[in-house]
Amino acid sequence: MKYEIRCSVCNKSPSSLLAYKCPSCGQPLDVELDFNFEPYKIRTGNYSGWRYEQFFPYAQERKIITLSEGWTPLVRFSDNVYVKLESANPTGSFKDRGSTVLVSALHELIEEAGGYISEDSSGNAGASMAAYAARAGLKARIYVPESVAGPKFNQIQFYGAQVTKVSGSRARVAEEAQKVERRKFYVGHILHPLFRDGIRSLAYELFEQFGWSVPERIYLPVSAGTLLLGIISGFKQLSDSGEIEALPKIVACQTRQVSPLYHLFKGLTYDPPETVTSVADALVSVKPPLLDLMVKRLKEVKGDAVMVGEDEIMEAFFELARRGFFVEPSSAVAYAGYRKQLKSNVASEENKVVIVLTGSGLKTTVKPV
Ligand SMILES: [Zn+2]
Repeated sequence: MKYEIRCSVCNKSPSSLLAYKCPSCGQPLDVELDFNFEPYKIRTGNYSGWRYEQFFPYAQERKIITLSEGWTPLVRFSDNVYVKLESANPTGSFKDRGSTVLVSALHELIEEAGGYISEDSSGNAGASMAAYAARAGLKARIYVPESVAGPKFNQIQFYGAQVTKVSGSRARVAEEAQKVERRKFYVGHILHPLFRDGIRSLAYELFEQFGWSVPERIYLPVSAGTLLLGIISGFKQLSDSGEIEALPKIVACQTRQVSPLYHLFKGLTYDPPETVTSVADALVSVKPPLLDLMVKRLKEVKGDAVMVGEDEIMEAFFELARRGFFVEPSSAVAYAGYRKQLKSNVASEENKVVIVLTGSGLKTTVKPV
C-alpha cells in the first residue's frame, strides 16, 4: 500500500475515496503516505504541479484533470525574502492545487454514478472547484452565504456552476451542502482529505525552487487550515524521506477578528466577533472544523502563530502592491505577520523567508484611495 486514508482521531479507514469524514466517529480524515519523496521521480519536463505526479498515487491511477496549476514563480522580494506567487494559479489562488488533485481522483467515480459535486464556499475554493468541475465536464453545485457578492461570486458563475444561496451562519451553508440528496457528492475543500493533500505540491516546489533546500521561515495566512495542513504534510514527508535536515519554521498568520488557531496555539481564550468585517474577507473561519488537527500539527513541527490587526493588513497590502505584487488583502496577512515578527525581533532580516501570496488582487473589492 502506497498510501492510506485514515481518521485523524480513531484511525479507522473509510471504504471509498469519496469519504469526507470518518465513517465511525465523524472526525476529519488524513492521507497517510507510505513512500519516500525521491527527486529522480519528478517529471522535470512538466511545468505544473503534476511534475510531482508520482507522489499522488490515488490520482495518478486516473485521468488527470488539470489547468496547468502549480509550479508558480518564487520571486525575490528583498535580500532574504521571497514571495511565492500562488496568485498566478489558473483561477487566481492556491486552491487550484487541491482542486486538481481532488477532481482528478474522483471525477470518474462521480461520472459513473451520474452525479454532481457539491461544495460550500463563497470565495476562492468555490471558484476553483467550479473551474475544475467545468474542465472535467462535471456538474457542480456551490452553496454560498446569502449575502455573497463581488468578483469571486461572479467567477463561480462564469464557470457554469449552479449556485444555491443559504441564509444563516457559515455552518448552515456547510450543512446544506452536505445534506444527502440523490446523485450529490459532497467534496467540500475543508473536510475532504484529498483537497488538503493536494496542497503538498507547494512544499515540494519550494524545496526544488530553493535549490534542494528550504527557507528558515514560511509565512502563510490561515483560516480553515487547508493550506497550513497541506504544506506541513509536504515538508514532513521531505523530512521523513531524509531530503531535508530541518523543517522550516511555519508561521500561521491570522487576523485579529478570525484568530481561533492563534489563540488556542498560544493557550489563550478566543472570543469571536458576531460578524466578521475584516478586509481580509477570505479568512472567515471563526470555528474551523480542523482546529484541533491544526494545533496538533503546528506543535509537532514546532511552528508558530501570529495575529495582525486591520491597519497592519492594509499597510502590508499597500506595500506589496507598490512593489508590484497585487494580492488580495487576505494574502497580505502573511506579509503583515512577517513584518510584525520582524518588529518584535522574533524574526530577523538575516532569516531566509518565504511569504506565500495566496490569491490575486483582482479578486478584491477594496477600492484605491
Ligand atoms: Zn474516526
